[in-house]
Amino acid sequence: MALLPEYKKNYGKLKNYINGEWVEADADKYDNVVNPATNEVIAQVPMTSKKQINEAVDAANEAWWAWRSTPPVTRARVLFKMKEILEQNYETIARIMVQEQGKTIDEARGEARRTIENCEVATGVTTLAMGYNLEDGAAEGIDEDAIISPLGAFAAICPFNFPAMIPFWFWPYAVATGNTYIVKPSRQVPITMQFITELIDKAGFPPGVFNMVNGSHELADALMAHPGIKGISFVGSSPIAKHVYELSAHYGKRVQAQGGAKNSLVVMEDAAIDKTIKNSLASFYGCAGQRCLAGSNLVPVGKKAYDAVVPQFIEASKKIKVGYGLNEETNMGPVVSQAAKKKILGYIQKGIDEGAKLVLDGRNIKVKGYENGAFIGPTIFTGVTPDMTIAKEEIFGPVVAVVEQNSVDDVIEMINKSPFGNAASIYTQNGATARKFRYNVQAGNIGINIGIVAAMAYFPFGGYKDSFFGNMHGQGIDAINFFTDRKVVITRWF
Ligand code: NAD
Repeated sequence: MALLPEYKKNYGKLKNYINGEWVEADADKYDNVVNPATNEVIAQVPMTSKKQINEAVDAANEAWWAWRSTPPVTRARVLFKMKEILEQNYETIARIMVQEQGKTIDEARGEARRTIENCEVATGVTTLAMGYNLEDGAAEGIDEDAIISPLGAFAAICPFNFPAMIPFWFWPYAVATGNTYIVKPSRQVPITMQFITELIDKAGFPPGVFNMVNGSHELADALMAHPGIKGISFVGSSPIAKHVYELSAHYGKRVQAQGGAKNSLVVMEDAAIDKTIKNSLASFYGCAGQRCLAGSNLVPVGKKAYDAVVPQFIEASKKIKVGYGLNEETNMGPVVSQAAKKKILGYIQKGIDEGAKLVLDGRNIKVKGYENGAFIGPTIFTGVTPDMTIAKEEIFGPVVAVVEQNSVDDVIEMINKSPFGNAASIYTQNGATARKFRYNVQAGNIGINIGIVAAMAYFPFGGYKDSFFGNMHGQGIDAINFFTDRKVVITRWF
């Protein structure tokens, strides 16, 4: 099958979008944005100064009063328009993601779909953000109302693995409910949001309602400290999530901070093995293992389950075609960068050093025509014990640790000992086992015969423990609640 064309070979110097205008960044430094499959530089992203972030925050606050008094149905109409424009550009969005992030075209199309779905759900603001009231609620002749009202300007600090979808877990809900917004994309993958912002510009938002500023962690810190920002939505690694939670709280802000993960996929001996293998492969190797919902530990329970699943899983892993994501035959793309590759190779070495058995070694994979790419082939360790580093830490690459366990109780204990609590899955045909797992496992997303527990846009998305700091999650009604407050009015007329 032919290689799909890139939208552009090079995107040049990226800009910021402030107050409805594309502006040259006020930046001393630009980073290279690199296509991880080819290792070619495809854009330069500015490390914007704190001074310019003030301009974005001012614009968002100036736009707020008029936007909050715009009827919700009118705001929803702009979102409908945006959805239409996103649909028209769906394939281009997907191809840009492949180019800068490395995922396969099908994975990118899936992400573009999820992006649009969040926009669709946010258009329901006219019902989602309705308040409530009770006649004579306070006493006879005294009525009580709770009004759901917006708060002001919010900001999102985003990671590299879902360049389009993650900003959309938040900002459509924020603006639908009458707030204004600033998105800071990951410096590793800023082109997708640059392109999507060109589309947002056409949707008809008044200037200042949506802003996009590129930069580093310094810019993120400046947003958290800024008195003009009401709340922060963050997605990234757990140590940074904790930092964002603490710093934002220090400045009195609302905060939702989604962190890292270490997800186990548990296989019972009564699992439907063929389906389990197919489904779990997608979990371990999808997006080259760089999903917060990716499987990382494969946990067969008992020898029968081990014998049924592990040899076949290894054989199926060998068949995965690694290559450039714009080739439609590719099953798995590169990891995001050479630096990420180096980190993952370090974990593989650690697995070897700590005594796990490397039964499939993806370290020296060569992809014809893409010799400089950040590729790692499927990699599997057996004989992994729960105390080994590769069983405990987030590797964020296509590395599978097979950790044998003897009972579902042992599995639950192992999972609950982890500081992470993003997702966990069990493959079984036994309802009682599945219920025990679902009931006892401390994780925000539980899969039963499902390896990637990706909540739809109308469900909340977030984890437990160090995988999430805050209380209200992204997407759906949680997002509506995060971006609004309840104003209670008690009324008496004489
Ligand atoms: P990261 O934590 O390195 O960076 C995320 C964002 O934080 C970036 O925008 C970055 O500029 C900013 N940042 C980095 N250091 C900072 C600092 N010291 N102060 C303030 N801001 C800082 O994460 P990443 O490598 O881009 O993304 C991968 C991580 O994201 C993985 O751990 C993955 O599990 C996690 N993730 C979690 C979810 C979830 O929903 N829980 C979803 C996607 C990704």
